[in-house]
Amino acid sequence: MAKILIVEDEEDLWRGLQRHLQKEGYAVAHCGRGDTAVSTVLREAPDLIVLDVMLPGASGIDVCRELRARGIEVPIIMLTARSEEIDRVVGLEMGADDYVTKPFGVKELLARVRVRLRRDTAQARAGLSRYRFGDIEVNFDAHEVTRNGQRLELSPKELEVLRLLIRFRGEVVSRERMLHDIWGFDEAPNTRTVDTHILKLRQKLEEDPARPRFLLSIYGEGYKFVG
Ligand code: CA
Repeated sequence: MAKILIVEDEEDLWRGLQRHLQKEGYAVAHCGRGDTAVSTVLREAPDLIVLDVMLPGASGIDVCRELRARGIEVPIIMLTARSEEIDRVVGLEMGADDYVTKPFGVKELLARVRVRLRRDTAQARAGLSRYRFGDIEVNFDAHEVTRNGQRLELSPKELEVLRLLIRFRGEVVSRERMLHDIWGFDEAPNTRTVDTHILKLRQKLEEDPARPRFLLSIYGEGYKFVG
């Protein structure tokens, strides 16, 4: 079942869309702000994004541009309200795949969603197959991490820790949560295992591991990825 993220602040509109998409058998996630949209994409890993241009916090155009700059290739259908927006969106230099103009018919949007998913899902499934921050590019599918094109060697567990932290970008993830999600209960290592992995990740990813920029410690709570 494909998951679709609707980024739209007009409640009637997104709730209506959600209903129609669910009726078609899609799973639906929602985000109502531009400035939290990228984090929501990381967390939800949608197969397709319906992205409005006019949003509180940041515009849909900025969101689209940031997603592409970070290497996130999930298909995007923009919702535009005015003709001057269309010009900017149609330039598509910021990386949207398609657009519909408000007011639009739900059938039209559903048809475009189907086309996009058919065309793109096979090659670029999931919102988090790639992620760029600083000089680092992570390809989760290929288990490859590079800095300025140079390969860095991360263990599978280190990569999983990084992936979990990126998924919850900007939020604190507790050691217990990391242990539970990555190691499971069976292996039962203690929370120092987490700290050791963070130290190693910092040595590999941070320019100055003693003063980390991306992998922050939040005293008494856990770790937070910023970037
Ligand atoms: Ca809007």
